[in-house]
Amino acid sequence: MNFSKEERRKRASEILSLLKERYPDARVLLYYRNPFELLIATILAAQCTDERVNGVTPLLFSRFPDPDRMSKATSEEIEKIIKPTGFFKAKTKSLLGASKTLVDRFKCVVPETMEELVTLPGVGRKTANVVLGNCFGRPAIIVDTHVKRVSMRFGLTDSRDPKRIELELVEIIPKKDRTPYSRVVTFHGRYTCVARKPRCGECVVETLCPFEEKNL
Ligand code: SF4
Repeated sequence: MNFSKEERRKRASEILSLLKERYPDARVLLYYRNPFELLIATILAAQCTDERVNGVTPLLFSRFPDPDRMSKATSEEIEKIIKPTGFFKAKTKSLLGASKTLVDRFKCVVPETMEELVTLPGVGRKTANVVLGNCFGRPAIIVDTHVKRVSMRFGLTDSRDPKRIELELVEIIPKKDRTPYSRVVTFHGRYTCVARKPRCGECVVETLCPFEEKNL
């Protein structure tokens, strides 16, 4: 990477201040009322929009409101409801596997550590961090598609591997800022620093951004 850790630390902090002002209401847009629901909604959000997930979860959670009841559902019952989210057979397996594991090993309670969360079927570091950061107040760098792309454009990482990106960002972003960084950068990627034609002309961090292919 071309930039020293100190430079990246400083840039990350300045960018975060500006993006917090720009997106004061940045938050998870998935519908959920408790850690179990956010866990399930995040599994469903893989390769799918939040809007589409929000279209199926109210019915899913009304039928199967906790790990015990979801673990007793049949594959067909789950598949029928979550089909619009895509990859529904694999996601059904994950939902049933995660629910069963919560019942068998965690007394139906979503665990509060990364180590335990990633033992649930269908749960990787990103999903675990979504739950840790948003339900349990833990510092969480959530490397979704937006955080990955935008952090690279910011010159804060040059890795393409989500775990490495997370660890590189952890090195330069203080604990208290990690979940806020994830939230505002996701919003920035969603609304301004979009994948194909980033809206650099209306970007509040343009002067701090070293991306060479700006769209000005
Ligand atoms: S200047 Fe452009 S590339 Fe850089 S963060 Fe802003 S929108 Fe993204």
